[in-house]
Amino acid sequence: EVCVVGSINVDLMARVERLPAPGETVLGETVGRFAGGKGLNQAIAARRCGAGTRFCGAVGDDAEGMFLVGIAERAGVDTTHVAALTGHRTGTAHVFVLPGSENSIVVLPGANAGLSAHAAGAAVEGARVVLVQLEVPAVVARSALEAGRRGGATTILNAAPAAPDADGLLGQVDILVVNESEVATLGGAARCLQLGAGSVVVTLGARGCELHRGGHGPESFDAVTVAAVDSTGAGDAFCGALAAAVAGGADLPAAIRQAAAAGAITVGSVGAQTGRLTTEAIAGLLAR
Ligand code: ADP
Repeated sequence: EVCVVGSINVDLMARVERLPAPGETVLGETVGRFAGGKGLNQAIAARRCGAGTRFCGAVGDDAEGMFLVGIAERAGVDTTHVAALTGHRTGTAHVFVLPGSENSIVVLPGANAGLSAHAAGAAVEGARVVLVQLEVPAVVARSALEAGRRGGATTILNAAPAAPDADGLLGQVDILVVNESEVATLGGAARCLQLGAGSVVVTLGARGCELHRGGHGPESFDAVTVAAVDSTGAGDAFCGALAAAVAGGADLPAAIRQAAAAGAITVGSVGAQTGRLTTEAIAGLLAR
C-alpha cells in the first residue's frame, strides 16, 4: 500500500486576460472548482495506477473539506487519516489561467498548516511506500519519512515546492523526485546524494528525466512522446505513478518508465485532473 502525506486544496480556476496591477481590478471567467493540492493529486494518481492508497492530510471543518474528501473517496483513496480541523478553513488555491501556457497561483494553506506531525507518523504505519511533498510543514514531512523508515517502507520525497530547508530531510529519503528548478534550489543532484538521499530523479519536462545514484553516472530516460495540451499535473502524476510502481515491486528504472508514461498521459489532457490516467493507458503507451 502507498501512504501519501501532503496537501489537499480546492483549486478555484479563473481565466483572465492579464493579472491586475496593484490597486486594479480585472474581470475573469470561471473555469471551475477542482480538487487539488500536490498531496491529494499524487494520492489519486497512485490509486489510478493500481496501488491501494491512503491519504493523510487536513481540511477545514467546512463544505469545501467535505467536497474534497468525497472526491478522494470516489477515487478509491482511503481517507481515514484525513483530519477535519475545527477553526481552520480548507486550503484554497486561486489559479489564474493566462493566455499562453503558464498559470499564476495564490495558495492559502489554511488547514494544511495545521496537519499534525503525530497524525502523519501514525498514518504511515504498515505502508510499503511513503510519499511526501513540501506543501505541509517540514516537521510533518519529517515525521512521515522517519516513521516510514522505521516501518521498513520505501520513502519518496517530492521536494516541491522548492525549499532550501529540505536539506535536513534528505537523510530519510530513499528516492528524491525534483524538477529542474527544485534541484537547483537544493544545490544539484550530487549534493542531494551527499546529504543522504538514496537516489535522485530529476524530471526535465518533455526532455524526460535523469536518475542519479551513488556509483553510477546519471541514467537518462526519454519522455514518452505525446501531443502536449496542458503541462499542469505532470509532476504529480509522475510521483503518484512512481510510488504505485515501487509499491508493486518494480525496480527503480521500471518504475520511472511507468511514471514517465503517467506524466505524458497527463500532459496530453487538460487540467491537473488525472481522468485519463489508468494502468491500461500506461501499458498502452509503453507498448508503442
Ligand atoms: P513538474 O510538473 O513537476 O515541473 P516536469 O514538467 O519535469 O515536472 O514533468 C514530469 C514528468 O512528466 C517528466 O519527467 C516527463 O516524464 C513527463 N512530461 C512532462 N512534460 C511532458 C511532455 N511535454 N511530453 C511528455 N512527457 C512529459
